[in-house]
Amino acid sequence: MPQAQTAAGDGPIIRIRGLKKSYGVHTVLNGIDFDVAPSQVVVVIGPSGSGKSTFLRCCNGLEQPEGGTIDICGHRLVDQGVMLKESALNALRTEVGMVFQSFNLFPHLSVLHNITLGPRKLRGVSQQDAEAAALALLEKVGLAHKAQAMPASLSGGQKQRVAIARALAMRPRVMLFDEPTSALDPELVGEVLQVMKMLASEGMTMVVVTHEMGFAKEVADVVVVMDGGVIVETGTPQTIFSSPTQPRTRAFLQAVL
Ligand code: ADP
Ligand code: MG
Repeated sequence: MPQAQTAAGDGPIIRIRGLKKSYGVHTVLNGIDFDVAPSQVVVVIGPSGSGKSTFLRCCNGLEQPEGGTIDICGHRLVDQGVMLKESALNALRTEVGMVFQSFNLFPHLSVLHNITLGPRKLRGVSQQDAEAAALALLEKVGLAHKAQAMPASLSGGQKQRVAIARALAMRPRVMLFDEPTSALDPELVGEVLQVMKMLASEGMTMVVVTHEMGFAKEVADVVVVMDGGVIVETGTPQTIFSSPTQPRTRAFLQAVL
């Protein structure tokens, strides 16, 4: 079978077919088909336990699926459930930035060091260049004045903005966000969503798992509804929020809106 090797720039950034993942006898992803085009913002919603985090982790090579294919920028990350070997996987991982609910900053490193570590170790960027790029990213997320701060001294919203800057420092082709504002006090949610909106407006390709329906309505090109390990419905925010066709979408929206 010919393998699509799409040149970077055209073709989907993420292309997934028949993705399956189980933990023991428990099937968590049961045949997911999913495409993300360049500069698209896809928001994934659905009840707790529906497989959203597992799905994102598969896109990043953090989970080993049992079946299906995953192509990132035309390169096969998972082929019929078999993942690339570690060396190739690391190269592909640098294309996919990930931001977690719990920030996951290195607590013993300064903000600047958190951001420069990946580019220096994984991309071979010089310390000077890495620091210049990190400072520009901190400027962008409004935290240039925190370059020398330690993570523990930051608010949750500031930590998450640093985590976004750190992911961007690897110059990813796509950013995955797993409930990036769920751990934040309500008054800190806005500053993080603001940074994400800015990225979207600059054309960053993004997959965002979130319960922030306002963000989905405003920013998403496509909303994907997951339930029980499958995609139950895909549509524009307009369709999903105003006239969902699937009972499971309606039930979920009734519970959260
Ligand atoms: P969501 O992010 O939509 O809440 P998850 O992907 O975290 O869903 O989880 C989907 C299902 O997989 C849940 O039933 C969860 O308990 C199970 N699960 C997730 N991670 C693991 C794991 N490492 N081991 C066993 N079960 C897991
Ligand atoms: Mg989750």
